[in-house]
Amino acid sequence: MTKMVVFDMDGTIANLYGVENWLEYIHNEDPYPYKVAECLYDPVELLTVVNELKANGWKIAITSWLAKGGSKEYNAKVRQAKIEWLSIFPYDEIHIVKYGTTKANCTRGKADFQILVDDNEMVRNSWNLGGTIDANKNILKELRKLLDF
Ligand SMILES: [Mg+2]
Repeated sequence: MTKMVVFDMDGTIANLYGVENWLEYIHNEDPYPYKVAECLYDPVELLTVVNELKANGWKIAITSWLAKGGSKEYNAKVRQAKIEWLSIFPYDEIHIVKYGTTKANCTRGKADFQILVDDNEMVRNSWNLGGTIDANKNILKELRKLLDF
């Protein structure tokens, strides 16, 4: 059985909403908050568990929405900022997609069992490829549980 963990970014691993005036920047189509968002976890701890998952046979994906209502130009800047933010994150595949995209459609068929890690309840509820982890709680503990899976 092939297995995959799919990570959201904003509010899940990247503290976008912790950047002061983040929404104003986005409305002004400034990619600044995507560039300076801090990691919500100790990066060493997060990268350690992700690498352990990989060593245990999990594929790692990122599926992240672009800003709501972003222009083509802004979307390109945000995509670039997100890829740079993830520079040392060991993902196998990445989907930076239009706001509101059904996330399951991005990785459907890529693994038999897929766990989505996401802070958005509506997105988690629409996930039908395996299981979900609620990123409003500490995800490290839940990710470590997958090591025994
Ligand atoms: Mg999110």
